[in-house]
Amino acid sequence: MNTLPDENGYFGSYGGSYLPPVLEEELAKVAAAYMEVRNDPVFLMEMEEIQKNYQGRPTPVTHLHGLTALQGGAQIYCKREDLNHTGAHKLNHCVGEVLLAKRLGKTKVIAETGAGQHGVALATAAAYLGVECEIHMGEVDIAKEHPNVIRMQLLGANVVPVTFGQKTLKEAVDSAFETYARDYETTLYCIGSAVGPHPFPMMVRDFQTVVGLEARQQIQEQAFRQPDAVVACVGGGSNAIGIFSAFLDDDNVALYGVEPGGRGSALGDHAATITHGSDGVIHGFNTLLLTDEDGEIAPVYCLASGLDYPGVGPQHAYLHSIGRVNYVVANDSEALEAFYTLSKSDGIIPALESAHAVAYAMKLAKTMDPDKVILINLSGRGDKDIDYVVETFGLGE
Ligand SMILES: *Cc1c(COP(=O)(O)O)cnc(C)c1O
Repeated sequence: MNTLPDENGYFGSYGGSYLPPVLEEELAKVAAAYMEVRNDPVFLMEMEEIQKNYQGRPTPVTHLHGLTALQGGAQIYCKREDLNHTGAHKLNHCVGEVLLAKRLGKTKVIAETGAGQHGVALATAAAYLGVECEIHMGEVDIAKEHPNVIRMQLLGANVVPVTFGQKTLKEAVDSAFETYARDYETTLYCIGSAVGPHPFPMMVRDFQTVVGLEARQQIQEQAFRQPDAVVACVGGGSNAIGIFSAFLDDDNVALYGVEPGGRGSALGDHAATITHGSDGVIHGFNTLLLTDEDGEIAPVYCLASGLDYPGVGPQHAYLHSIGRVNYVVANDSEALEAFYTLSKSDGIIPALESAHAVAYAMKLAKTMDPDKVILINLSGRGDKDIDYVVETFGLGE
């Protein structure tokens, strides 16, 4: 299973690289360089040293006694990416990408950000590893996500406001790519999820696999067995592919990718790409997409800003097509209930993104016997969400 993608970056019929020729050539070079460092002990040792002494890895696996007792079924455990430095899993691939940039002799990294989570993670890795960082962000998002803009600036990143079109994520991607096409000799583009043209989906997957490899060992030590089910939320799909990768070859481990059902199943009310999408090309790769009747990329909505992407990583589209992973939906109100419940049941305030995985695991646990084990990837902590949740919905029951 981990032999994918093929040399052109395809997972079955999904993935590949659809780019202007100058970037096509540059990314072929990046892919070739990555294939070398991928098994280079010096590169891997440097990454491990950073994971251990800077990020705080391995992150623990926690048995959620409170949540397990409330559901009255399977034992629920979670992998604590909320305890990774910066409070989410994104730093795992940002550290890998910045290390690769340095290996390629680049002095700068560039990316877009929507709500700012990817920008903060990349700015963190860039600060630690001593490279310049430029983050493109729509003006609308800059106004909405003030604390993350401040964080990026404190971390030394140059935040470039994007002032055309809707002034949000899509234009930020276009703007960052334009700059990259001009500055590729000194700069590496660092994508924020397991998406984009080859080799990004493969690289981000590999850098996130540490989550699954650690969890496999930890769950064995604590539960004396492998999980019966692994559950993760899916935006672009990096945290999910990171934990799934370690279990793909275990036929008796059921895998669940939880998409955001938002406020309904009409186009524009959710971001459940695999559940409702169809084949198409976005941001340089072929995948499942949410489009309107004219074939234009549809607006998406969900309570958790980190999950509202109209495409999905190509490996997820592939795993769906072969039936290896079950892609399911949790809607806004289920995620919100899970957010409040886990905070009180076990003293962990989850990110609203991660709360989608918790919500589905809560339902699943009830259908399974108490000797069974569910492992959730708790992709991040909810500190960033508390003001919004409490102002909009109150403190919960
Ligand atoms: C960005 C983010 C996600 C969604 O991204 P994936 O690439 O699908 O993992 C999920 N959880 C948290 C906490 C995030 O910050």
